[in-house]
Amino acid sequence: MDIHEYQAKKILEEHGIKIPTGAISYSPEQAVYRAHEIGGKTWLVKAQVHAGGRGKAGGVKVCHSESEVLEAADDMFGRKLITHQTGGMGKGIYRVYVEGAVEIEKELYLGFVLDRSTQRIMLVTSGEGGMEIEEISEKKPQSIVRCEVEPAVGLREFQAREIAFELGIDSSLVQQLQKTLMGCYSAFRTLDATMLEINPLAITKDKSIIALDAKMTFDDNALFRHPKIAELRDKSQEDPRERNAADRGLNYVGLTGEIGCIVNGAGLAMATMDTIKLAGGEPANFLDIGGGATPERVTKAFKLILSDERVKVILVNIFAGINRCDWVAQGVVDAMENLDFTHPVVVRLAGTNVKEGKEIIKKSKQPIIQADDLMEAATKSVQIWQNL
Ligand code: GDP
Ligand code: MN
Repeated sequence: MDIHEYQAKKILEEHGIKIPTGAISYSPEQAVYRAHEIGGKTWLVKAQVHAGGRGKAGGVKVCHSESEVLEAADDMFGRKLITHQTGGMGKGIYRVYVEGAVEIEKELYLGFVLDRSTQRIMLVTSGEGGMEIEEISEKKPQSIVRCEVEPAVGLREFQAREIAFELGIDSSLVQQLQKTLMGCYSAFRTLDATMLEINPLAITKDKSIIALDAKMTFDDNALFRHPKIAELRDKSQEDPRERNAADRGLNYVGLTGEIGCIVNGAGLAMATMDTIKLAGGEPANFLDIGGGATPERVTKAFKLILSDERVKVILVNIFAGINRCDWVAQGVVDAMENLDFTHPVVVRLAGTNVKEGKEIIKKSKQPIIQADDLMEAATKSVQIWQNL
């Protein structure tokens, strides 16, 4: 789960990291009021969306008067912000963060990620902040300093000092950097984060180290033990199709093709998408209905797929182990009898109770196209779509 910049900053502040004075607003007028409260002469107006790259996309504006704050916020509210991280649909701006500007001397990059190969939390830093990490690793790979954390002992002070040294931080700032790194590590670890990024982490003209941006992602499977974090979920930032699925216990990822897929198991769902592509088509989604799927759950999956207007053909691919082909078949038949749609449906069933399943489909007299293996099912789906 992702959270907003202003929420991540508050968490970091609670862990001893310096952040600029800022306040959240839900309307342009409130943004001005916030700027007035913060005081000073220069403010940043920042769109709160779950994506980076806002600066380049017009989602971060520097303002020198309250009327400029009003104008910037007014321009942002209600609009969709498209950055290179949001995808073509963009993300809606419903909250705007107002911050007092600080004078930057140097920008650093700071990231904490889970490194799967070493199974450790990895600290990634660079003296070339401001740029995105992908750009840094392409243009200035030698500037990146990595550090692995031993989970039994956590991040040690000497490691923080080594990083400060390698980044060429002035000795008067080492203590502050150490405090920042230790604070980030503690936030990451205690809250079960999977990603924490501060870019830029700024060294200001008056020699303080301060987080100008913040991003945090949390492990969904650990949210149950962090109710305060779970509450920060902002559904307005999620793909409506995926949100709908998650609320119904289905594992769904929206894509942009025309063949809607209903599959059991993540591996089989991946293989199904690959086979559709091999057959010359494009999948509209990844959907794993899981094990022990009842006819009701299959019908829910149909509803979800049909809510995507890109979908032209539906492909059901079930390899039943824990699942039962007869239940799935009943679900498909129920969906076709009770839901109002005319999309062609291709079904491939294999495994537990396959005979009974095929029998249910035959008896139903619904125009369901059956296939015996995945390649046949994918080829038929794509051909039907091409001939529509
Ligand atoms: P992002 O584009 O989504 O990563 O948004 P950021 O929060 O990183 O803001 C974009 C850029 O605005 C940063 O890389 C900074 O260079 C700049 N910026 C952010 N806060 C300040 C500030 O207080 N003062 C100044 N001068 N620049 C800032
Ligand atoms: Mn940034």
